Amino acid sequence: MKVYHGRILSFEDPTSPREYGYMAVDDNGRIVSLSHERQDVGGEFVDYSGYLILPGFVDAHIHLPQFHRRAMISNSLLEWLERHIFPAEMKFSDPSLARNIAREFFSALLRNGTTTAAVYSSPHRESTNIAFEEAAKSGIRAVIGQVLMDMNGPEELLTTPEKAVEDIRGVASRWHGFDDRLFYAVTPRFAVSCSMALLKAASEIARRLNLYVQTHLSEQLGEIAEVMRLFPGFESYTEIYLRAGLLGEKTIVGHAIHLDDRERKLLAGTRTKIAHCPSSNFFLHSGVMDLEAHERFGLTIALGSDVGAGPFISMFNVLRDAYYANAMSPAKAFHLLTMGGARVLGMEDRIGSLEPGKEADFVVLNPGPLASIHDDLEVLLSRLMILGDERNVVATYVRGKRLWPS
Ligand SMILES: [Zn+2]
Repeated sequence: MKVYHGRILSFEDPTSPREYGYMAVDDNGRIVSLSHERQDVGGEFVDYSGYLILPGFVDAHIHLPQFHRRAMISNSLLEWLERHIFPAEMKFSDPSLARNIAREFFSALLRNGTTTAAVYSSPHRESTNIAFEEAAKSGIRAVIGQVLMDMNGPEELLTTPEKAVEDIRGVASRWHGFDDRLFYAVTPRFAVSCSMALLKAASEIARRLNLYVQTHLSEQLGEIAEVMRLFPGFESYTEIYLRAGLLGEKTIVGHAIHLDDRERKLLAGTRTKIAHCPSSNFFLHSGVMDLEAHERFGLTIALGSDVGAGPFISMFNVLRDAYYANAMSPAKAFHLLTMGGARVLGMEDRIGSLEPGKEADFVVLNPGPLASIHDDLEVLLSRLMILGDERNVVATYVRGKRLWPS
């Protein structure tokens, strides 16, 4: 048993954070109790007085092979992919490069307070396997999948529906459910890169093996025009995914910017989840997602960095951009980052907030020099939301184990 002391915050309620002074965590990494006064539960005392303790950050959309291709400006999403991203992802056919970058990537996530991430790997089976190996070693919680594409890309990155299914089976059988911490996501890149046969094969195998699905939806107007040209006879981009069988409660679509209400209804009706990626949306000038309209339809929303179209691996930067995109209280922003992330991944009964019975994924933050620990909560959270960065992260814990600093 360990008892952590600090200014402990949890964001179950988007309008008012809960605050405690003490959190007891058992040897299995499960939260036993939260309290204002120190209780006599025994165990080791870990003193973080002067620091904030928050639920671990969830990044619901990030690309591992694009980690070193951040901040490459371009005129459009499709041009950016061709010029900067496909060449970067091709290099992941080299296992030693794939391993080095994966190691660096997971360590950077933990250093920035991200305890759970939904990760797009490269279009290679082996690099995806390596990503799982490095995630397993790092201790992070993650959902990972090999990017699938069978058209409109360089030959070396293309697969076939049959090969895609074989790759997914091979990697998912080893890693899906590993340590109850790593999971497989079937990851068709987006409709521009995938034939209907590939989208259907992807959704079938995901359903059969009960895997996650992650993909991009409705990011840029030029992309949408291209999708509608490639898939004539469909009413909308969302309808293509619906008819392929890809939408559902284990599906996370990234961006979802230029949607009409019919599409919102399709997403809500299938309980499909949304990864909101405001930093990426600003960087590529994709547009601004209408958070309020999505919420009116009851859609479940998390935040994603979308590195490398998003230039920042720190979720503080994503919080700031989420605020610029849609005005919201700091408590709401931290709610989306933590509880929203957990809900989008269907993990709300084990992570996303600090509550008894949940697993102890948390970050320890030094508010200085942005604010004083004694400041009013609104001030503290507002300063962190807009100005926070990795220098504020003192320690990162997953399941009660300190993973950073290691
Ligand atoms: Zn993306």
